Amino acid sequence: MTDFPTAISTTCAYCGVGCGVIMQPQADGFTASGEVTHPANLGRLCVKGSALGETLSLQGRLLQPEINRQPVSWSQALDAVARGIQDIIHEHGPESVAFYGSGQLLTEDYYVANKLMKGFIGSGNMDTNSRLCMASAVVGYKRAFGADAVPCSYADLDKADCVILTGSNTAWAHPVVYQRIAQAKKERPDMCIIVIDPRQTATCDIADLHLPLRPGSDAALFCGLLNAMAENDCLDIDFLQTHTQGAEETLRTAQAWTLANTADFCGLSEEQLLTFYQMISHSDRLITLYSMGINQSSSGVDKCNAIINLHLATGKIGREGCGPFSITGQPNAMGGREVGGLANQLAAHMGFCPEDIDRLSRFWESNNIATAPGLNAVDMFRAIEEGRIKAVWIMGTNPVVSLPDADRVRAGLARCSLVIVSDIMRDTDTTQVAHICLPALGWGEKNGTVTNSERCISRQRAFLPIPGEARPDWWIISRVAQRLGFSDAFSYQHPAEIFREHARLSGFENEGTRAFDISGLASVSNEQWDQMRPIQWPVNTHAPQGTPRLFTDKKFYHLDGKARLVPITPRMPVNMPTASYPLVMNTGRVRDQWHTMTRTGKSARLMQHISEPFCQFHPDDCPSAEAGDLLRVSSSHGWLLLRAQPDRLQPRGHVFIPMHWNHQFSQQARVDALIEAHNDPLSGQPESKHMPVRIQHWNAAWQAEVFMRGLQAVPPLTAYWSKITQPGITHFTLADSAKPADWIDWLNVQFGIGKWQCQTAHLGDEGFNLLAWSNGELQLAFYAHRRHPSPDRQAIVTAFSQPYASSQERLALLGGRPGSGKGATGAMICSCFAIGEIAINDAVRKGCHNVQQLGVKLKCGTNCGSCIPELKKLIARKLETMTVGDDQ
Ligand code: SF4
Repeated sequence: MTDFPTAISTTCAYCGVGCGVIMQPQADGFTASGEVTHPANLGRLCVKGSALGETLSLQGRLLQPEINRQPVSWSQALDAVARGIQDIIHEHGPESVAFYGSGQLLTEDYYVANKLMKGFIGSGNMDTNSRLCMASAVVGYKRAFGADAVPCSYADLDKADCVILTGSNTAWAHPVVYQRIAQAKKERPDMCIIVIDPRQTATCDIADLHLPLRPGSDAALFCGLLNAMAENDCLDIDFLQTHTQGAEETLRTAQAWTLANTADFCGLSEEQLLTFYQMISHSDRLITLYSMGINQSSSGVDKCNAIINLHLATGKIGREGCGPFSITGQPNAMGGREVGGLANQLAAHMGFCPEDIDRLSRFWESNNIATAPGLNAVDMFRAIEEGRIKAVWIMGTNPVVSLPDADRVRAGLARCSLVIVSDIMRDTDTTQVAHICLPALGWGEKNGTVTNSERCISRQRAFLPIPGEARPDWWIISRVAQRLGFSDAFSYQHPAEIFREHARLSGFENEGTRAFDISGLASVSNEQWDQMRPIQWPVNTHAPQGTPRLFTDKKFYHLDGKARLVPITPRMPVNMPTASYPLVMNTGRVRDQWHTMTRTGKSARLMQHISEPFCQFHPDDCPSAEAGDLLRVSSSHGWLLLRAQPDRLQPRGHVFIPMHWNHQFSQQARVDALIEAHNDPLSGQPESKHMPVRIQHWNAAWQAEVFMRGLQAVPPLTAYWSKITQPGITHFTLADSAKPADWIDWLNVQFGIGKWQCQTAHLGDEGFNLLAWSNGELQLAFYAHRRHPSPDRQAIVTAFSQPYASSQERLALLGGRPGSGKGATGAMICSCFAIGEIAINDAVRKGCHNVQQLGVKLKCGTNCGSCIPELKKLIARKLETMTVGDDQ
C-alpha cells in the first residue's frame, strides 16, 4: 500500500449516479467520503458509498484461476479458455460462442471484450446485464433523437420547476440524486415534485403529488398528459414544426386518451389527473426522471417515448432544468453503451449498417467484423439452453440470479459445453456452474473509467494492492485474444492505451453524425489519463471542456436533424393475475443493498438495515400472516420462502419483493426464479416488475437465530435459512417444518457443538436456547422458538468479543438479553451512525418530534439522509401511540 498516495479520488462502485469518492487510508483500512468537486455528488454520499471501506476484505475472493474448481496457473487457464473457444468455433462457427458482460466492467475492459467478439471472432453475441437495466431507455432515445443520448445533467435538477419521478424509488435506488432534489425543494419550496409509482415508497416523502397508478399503465398516463397539454394550448408549436417530425400522428393517437379513458386505464381519479396536468402546464422547466419501473417492461420502449414525446411537444428539452432523464442502475451502464456492449450495437455508437461495418473494419484492421446483431441476454441464455451456443464467457455478473426464469438459466448453463466466468468472488450462484473461473480485479484494485447517467466520464482508481493472482479484465481478455491469433490488435500494456483507442474510434469519420464523440481525449498521455477529471461527453474540438447539456441548438441526430415524436398505443403487461395467481409481484431495491450483495453483503452495518429477504403485502391479501411469519410466494415458474412484511401502505393486490437475495445469502429467495421472460420486442428488455403470484402463510414448526464464531459456517439443512455476517461472526436465521427430536443432537450434527462446553435453557414446547463456550470465549449462541425469536442481536454480537463473562452475564445472554454493555438497538434505521429503532423511539418519547430534533440528539439522518423518510414514519407512528404524559 505504500505505493499509493495518502488519499485517492475515485468513483463509487455501485449505482449510475457515479459519485466521486475520496478513499482515505486509516490504520486499519480506508474510510470513504464524498468528493466535493465531483459534479455528480458535490460531496454527498449515500450509506452504501459511505460504507465502501467496509467491503474491501478478501473474504470469499477468487484469487487464483480454477478449472473444474481446482487451482491452475494463468497460462493453463488462458490456454484452456482459448482452446475451448477455438475448438467450438472450428466445429460450430462463431455464432456458437457468446460473451455476457456487465455494467460493473470498466469502459476499457468492455471495449476489449466487445472488440474481440464483434471485431475478430466475428459474431454479434456480446451482450450485457445492462440489457436488464436500461435497454428500453436506449431504444427510446434512439427512436426520438437518432442517438442514445441523455440530454440533461444532474445540475438541471437544481433548476427545474417540476420534477416527475416515474418508475423510480430514487430515495433508495439513487439516494444522492434524491438528496439533490430534496435540497432543491428545500431551497425553492415552489418547485413541485410528482412521484408516479403504484407503491407509496420512501421517495414520496418529498412529493407534492403521488399518483399510485395501476402497474404498467405509465404510457397511457403520459399519452393522457400529452393530450391534455394539446387541448389546453400548452404545446410549443414553433419547436414542433421546426425541429420535429411525427407530431401530427402522435397527437392524433393521443386524442384517444381523454381524461376519463386515462383515469380508467391508470386506476386514478379524474381529480388526481387534473391536478397532475395543471402542475405540468404551470411548469416552464420540467425534468422527467425515469428508471427500471419504466424500462423493465414488455412495452418499456413505448413508455420511454411517451415521456420523450411530452418533452418534445412542450419544448422542454435542450434548456436549463429540462429533459427526459433516464437514470441507470449500474456504475458503468453508460460506458457499456459507448463501446457497443449491447448485442445490437457496434462500438462507438455504430450499428450494423454496411458503412459502419466497413468503417470499423478499417479502424480495427479486421476483415471479420460481425455483420448482424447478436442475441440479447434472454435469447442468449435460451440459445445456451437449446445447445445453439456452446461456449459462454460471463464477465462480472451473476445471471443465475439476475435473469428472469433464473432456474432455467441455471439448468441451461449446467448443460453448456464450456462456461467461463471472470469474477472477483469464488462462490456465486453462477461460478458454481462454471468450468473455468478467472479471478478479476475488484473495485479499488482496478484502474479505468466509468460513465454515469449524465454522460460524465470519471476515473475509478486503484488504491489497493493486487490480491493473489487476480488480474484486470482487459488483461485477461487480451491474453485470450492473443492466443486466438489476434496478437497485434490486442497487445495492450496499459488501460490508458485502450482508452485512447476508444476515444480515437469515437471521432473516426464522425463529423457530428454520432453523439458519442470523445476525440478530444484521444491523445491524453498515461499521466493525463491518470489525472483525468470528470467530464461529460461529447468532448471534441467544438466542446473541449465537455458538454453538460445536449440539443441546446435544437439539432438532433436523425439525418434531417429533427427529433421524432412516436405515436404510442399503450399496452398492459403480458402476464395478468389469474384465479391461481391473483396478486401482482413488483421487484426492486432496498436502501442499503446493491445487486446480488457480493460487496454490500460484506458490511455488517449495511446488513443490519434489512437482514432478510421479505415480501411486502397488504394485510388483507393474506390475513393469516403476521409480521415475523414466513410466506411461501409462488408463481407459475417457481417459489420462494420469505419473511412476511404486512404493510397497509402496500396497494391491495400487489406484493413487493427485493431483487438482491440469492443462494449465497438465503435458501430460497432468488426473485428472478419466479419471473417469466417476456421481452420488449424493440429493446429485448425483460418484464421484471409484473408477475402474477400467490402468497401463503408457511407453517414453521420452529424458528431460530444462531450466531457462530467465524465466517465460513455452512448453512444448516433447514427449509428456510438466511445469512448475514457481522465482524468475525456468521448469523443465520432459520426455520423448519418439523422440530428435531433432540436439540443438542441436531445442533451437534449441524454445527459440531460437541467439542464445546454448552449451557442450555429448555423452554418446554415453546423453544430452546443454547450457548457454547470454549476457553471462556463464546463460540455459538442459539435461540429457537415456536415463533420468530427476538434475542438482542447487538448484545449477542458484543458477547463474542468479550471473553470470560460472569455467570450472571452468561445467564442473561442465554435468555437473549444483554448481560452487560449496550442495550438492544432494534432495527437499524440510520446505518451511517448505527442508530436503531429503540433509541429513536425513546428520543421521540422524550420530546424529539421532528427529524431535525432527532438529528441534534442522535445524529441520525444528518449524513447521507437516506433514512429520513423512515425517521418521519417512526416519529408519526410513535406519536400516534403515545398518550398524554408519555412525553417527559
Ligand atoms: Fe454510490 Fe450511488 Fe450511493 Fe452515489 S448514490 S454513493 S454512486 S451508491
